[in-house]
Amino acid sequence: MTEKKNVVFIVVDGLADRPVSSLGGLTPLEAASKPGIDKLAEIGICGILDIISPGVPPGSDVAHLSLFGYDPYVVYRGRGGLEALGAGMNIGVDDVAFRANFASVGEDMKILDRRAGRFLPEGDKLADSLNGYRSKLFPDVEVIVKHTTEHRCVVVLKGPGLSHMVSDTDPHREGNLIQATPLDSTPESKKTASVVNEFTQYSYDVLRDHPLNVEREKKGLPPANILLLRGAGRLPCMPSLRELYGLKAACIAANALVRGVCKAAGMDAIEVKGVTGSFDTDTNSMGRAALKLLSEYDLVFLHIKGTDSASHDGDLEKKIFMIEEKADKLVSLLLDSIDLDRTYLVLTADHTTPVSVKDHTGDPVPVVIAGPGVRSDDVKRFSERDCAKGGLGRIQARFLMPILIDYLGLSKKYGA
Ligand code: ZN
Ligand code: ZN
Repeated sequence: MTEKKNVVFIVVDGLADRPVSSLGGLTPLEAASKPGIDKLAEIGICGILDIISPGVPPGSDVAHLSLFGYDPYVVYRGRGGLEALGAGMNIGVDDVAFRANFASVGEDMKILDRRAGRFLPEGDKLADSLNGYRSKLFPDVEVIVKHTTEHRCVVVLKGPGLSHMVSDTDPHREGNLIQATPLDSTPESKKTASVVNEFTQYSYDVLRDHPLNVEREKKGLPPANILLLRGAGRLPCMPSLRELYGLKAACIAANALVRGVCKAAGMDAIEVKGVTGSFDTDTNSMGRAALKLLSEYDLVFLHIKGTDSASHDGDLEKKIFMIEEKADKLVSLLLDSIDLDRTYLVLTADHTTPVSVKDHTGDPVPVVIAGPGVRSDDVKRFSERDCAKGGLGRIQARFLMPILIDYLGLSKKYGA
């Protein structure tokens, strides 16, 4: 009897890039020294993935849905629900969730600081003061508020007859607070917009005179006196990887949004000390934890976020540092320890984030799969251009998962 096969699936967020003139026309991946990752390309089969379709810049949520084999145009219902899952909140399929910011407004409701100074150690207590609000207009709707990091919260509306088709109250820059409006003509959207506006006013009424805000103002800090809501979303409507393929999967992903997508796909989210969504993440601990999880899981998903953050900052040096010191060290550690006769090692990105653009673009991303039975190609370096010459060719990201399922021997034959 053959041993059961499994997969380590690594996504380095926003890893792919475009040629950079200060690098002599190389991309950060081409310029970085990354012996482990290049070794992986040499022994594996390489290719490039269109995350959604050519020329469509994906958000990280939609990108990961695609990488996990789902069609985002079918299953995606906004960002909020995934944020709530990622933040460990209890959210049902009918609930609607939002990302929220504590902000500072003046008495004329003009937003003075969208992030209330960003540093907000009072966040937990301020969120608690709003938590559990019941709508006066629709008493069947309860509002749950959870503080996450800095000025950020997640807000969940629980109750029947709600919709995620409502606009943001956050103007996304300093200016006037915006009223939420329904984005379609259903009664559910109208109801949700009414509750959002009612709750926004309530947040101001409670927070305006909150003792912690009085204290903040005494210290010369901007008061966190309103919650701005954006990114309404419900849970994606989709079966888990276990339901689809019988796959038992775990993830190590510190970024709340990505962890939310993993949970929506049915993965167990594993906390690992030292693993952060930032530049200081400990990929050694991540790698060692992944090796342990392989005895229990068919698929272990690992996520590194800092490459994308560096790209949004236009910080080329930081991006190369993340590739050399974090991603490459992780791949080297795994290559040293896993048994490639039974374990597949997969590496890709969720989208291109060029340091020159500082945002996501629609370029395809490189991918490599190494492991038993893989028909390796002539590609010896992992980069945007090298992988374009690889044996996988150019495929849509949502076909990556079926390929892995087939390698694992879990696919079903089509036809007789
Ligand atoms: Zn991303
Ligand atoms: Zn990004």
